[in-house]
Amino acid sequence: MNDLLPIVPTHSNAPIIIAGPCSAESKEQMMATATALSQAGITIFRAGAWKPRTSPGTFAGVGAIALQWLNDVKEATGMLTATEVANRTHVNLAINAGIDILWIGARTSANPFAMQEIADTIAERGATDKIVLVKNPVNPDLELWIGALQRIYNAGVRRLGAIHRGFSVYGKHLYRNVPQWDIPIELHLRYPELPILCDPSHIGGKRELVEPLSQEALNLGYAGLIVETHCDPDCAMSDASQQVTPQTLSEILERLHVPATTTKSESLTALRAKIDNLDSELIRVLSQRMAVCREIGRFKRDNNMKVVQAGRYNDIMHSRIAEGVESGLGEDFVRRLLLSVHDESVRQQIQIVSD
Ligand code: PEP
Ligand code: MN
Repeated sequence: MNDLLPIVPTHSNAPIIIAGPCSAESKEQMMATATALSQAGITIFRAGAWKPRTSPGTFAGVGAIALQWLNDVKEATGMLTATEVANRTHVNLAINAGIDILWIGARTSANPFAMQEIADTIAERGATDKIVLVKNPVNPDLELWIGALQRIYNAGVRRLGAIHRGFSVYGKHLYRNVPQWDIPIELHLRYPELPILCDPSHIGGKRELVEPLSQEALNLGYAGLIVETHCDPDCAMSDASQQVTPQTLSEILERLHVPATTTKSESLTALRAKIDNLDSELIRVLSQRMAVCREIGRFKRDNNMKVVQAGRYNDIMHSRIAEGVESGLGEDFVRRLLLSVHDESVRQQIQIVSD
């Protein structure tokens, strides 16, 4: 992928901004959102016609009628239009309607059959002038993401880009989809010409995270942002909690700082991003461990058992230290770490028992 073309013309290092609702809901909602965005200087409008929903029975998008509304937006504002495609039918309908940008969602980019079908349809239709953006797969698998991008590239598309929208994890987390900044950095190191955009809306899942995540992406030198924006976010039919109004987006964009160049060397940035990810993983695992400890605390309290049981503690220390040493960690370090984790577990259990 070394003969890519810019996805859209940009001025100097200004980020590419794509904005619009999660889902197209009505012509009025599309026009109200697009008009406000256009007045704020945004030139690319997104809206999902077909929505990949986790549970059946939830709003799955209005379907092909949304393509007509996207064209109404284009006629009224001159904005470029973008929508999600997940299969041959979607691609054909989007090409027929003249949609400018096709994006491929995280559930689809994880599926090589679907990716090949989309790539084949684009090639068969001779629609290689389309701009295609491929979101990272739901699972953190760089090769799968690259494979998805390569299928579109092999179909002849040269205005190709990637979108980091975070990765899905089980259980409660600060983020809806955890960002793993090192993965797109590695993608960038392998394909320096490939523009990477950040989707702070699907990473954060909450309005208030849109700005800090966007800033983080710009600090890392991302080419742009795709931000879910709705004229009445609280009433949105999908992803209400993460959508912002055009006015809020415009204020966020005003505040964002675009660094002139990334000063740190790229490989150092990549390594630091890896450390950041591992540290948050450590904290997540520790907090999960403490949650289990509190559950044990409740069990011991209800069954009149002592908090610290010496036999169990010695077993833990022995086997864990051996495991740590086996993994290349210093014996003393593992002992001190375990002691500290144990102290915190006891503190949390005592709190439960004395409640
Ligand atoms: C979307 O952009 O509306 C969407 C469904 O995104 P993702 O594929 O990242 O979940
Ligand atoms: Mn959405």
